[in-house]
Amino acid sequence: MSIWQDLEKKYYMQVVRRQPVTIVKGLGTKVWDDQNKEYLDFTSGWAVNNLGHCHPAIVEAIKNQAETLMQTSNQFFTVPQVQLAQLLVENSCLDRVFFANSGAEANEGAVKLARKYGKLNKNGAYGVITALNSFHGRTMAMISATGQPHYQANWQPLYEGFTNVEYNNLEAIKQATNDNTCAVMLEPIQGEGGVNIPDQSFFENVRQWCDENNMLLILDEVQTGIGRTGTLFGYEQFGIEPDVITLAKGLGGGVPIGAFLAKENAAALEPGDHGSTFGGNVLTTAAAYAAVKYAVDNNIEKDAKNSGEYLKDLLEKATDSLPNISEIRGRGLLIAVEFTEDIAPELVSNCNELGLLLNPVRPNAIRLMPPLTVNKEEMDKAVELIVEGIKSILAKGKK
Ligand SMILES: *Cc1c(COP(=O)(O)O)cnc(C)c1O
Repeated sequence: MSIWQDLEKKYYMQVVRRQPVTIVKGLGTKVWDDQNKEYLDFTSGWAVNNLGHCHPAIVEAIKNQAETLMQTSNQFFTVPQVQLAQLLVENSCLDRVFFANSGAEANEGAVKLARKYGKLNKNGAYGVITALNSFHGRTMAMISATGQPHYQANWQPLYEGFTNVEYNNLEAIKQATNDNTCAVMLEPIQGEGGVNIPDQSFFENVRQWCDENNMLLILDEVQTGIGRTGTLFGYEQFGIEPDVITLAKGLGGGVPIGAFLAKENAAALEPGDHGSTFGGNVLTTAAAYAAVKYAVDNNIEKDAKNSGEYLKDLLEKATDSLPNISEIRGRGLLIAVEFTEDIAPELVSNCNELGLLLNPVRPNAIRLMPPLTVNKEEMDKAVELIVEGIKSILAKGKK
């Protein structure tokens, strides 16, 4: 174990289960550890580095901005903040943006907006329906929104006003709806929950239900946004327009930034309602502007779509003869491989050794989310290593 891992054990809050890899450098799809061992990174900093590590367009923007201006409060106007806002609005169905610093914070803002909407338009309705197996972040309100008991159990009482219902189940949403409900908040595809893809008609039906009941449809696109699923935004996969979306992860291409966007009629916040010292900071918005501009100009979502199809196909063929695969599912470059047994931690550990970084999204599933710029050779290699990792587990079982 490296000295950094010993020091982490001593000094850091022991709250994250880390893989025994200390990453010191990255370029494109590759990263290197402190022993200079090379890995293919199919985790992308948790679906963040959509353009790969240290993309020159982002590096250049950060360098230039760092030499020019790094922070001024939101008491003043700044250029990159407005440029990024314009870029996002012009490339989405939404009309206004607010910048935050993370996914959880973006979602907090979206829920505040929904409550304000309820106050103004629905007799003070403040309830928000969310899904089981969802993931919306780790703040008090967002663990209440997140329908996974293990994120909630130690922090009772939960924040009031959230109802967690089964995902991909319109009836469950209907039953949970009452006069006090101001919004439905869902991921277009559940990421952390295991890459769960709803029926194609689900969002159309939810959209209609929200319209009929004067509720906002908030889509948490923190993981699906900025090309990940093969379209610039996840909602495009389902042919609907949400009232609100939230972004983070891929938005900054590596720098910490979040955002919520709303349609004009849903943008209920007024001066004084919300704010953030760092939200919309010039350094992060300049980096995010470079990342999103590059993504839009180069139709990066098409690469995600094509590479996603290639990778899924490759995985299916390569694992066809393996007995312990139960399902391979995904859209674009958000893909899960599910096993018949809980082998994900062992497989991830095997792949660390082999030089491939993966995410054990469930005990019985791994999640693949390489940079959207990943090439065929890298995908070929990754699949080869995954198969090798699975085979060594199977071989051990036979002994
Ligand atoms: C990661 C994630 C979040 C939380 O984002 P943070 O930046 O970690 O706060 C929220 N929603 C979804 C869908 C996510 O994948």
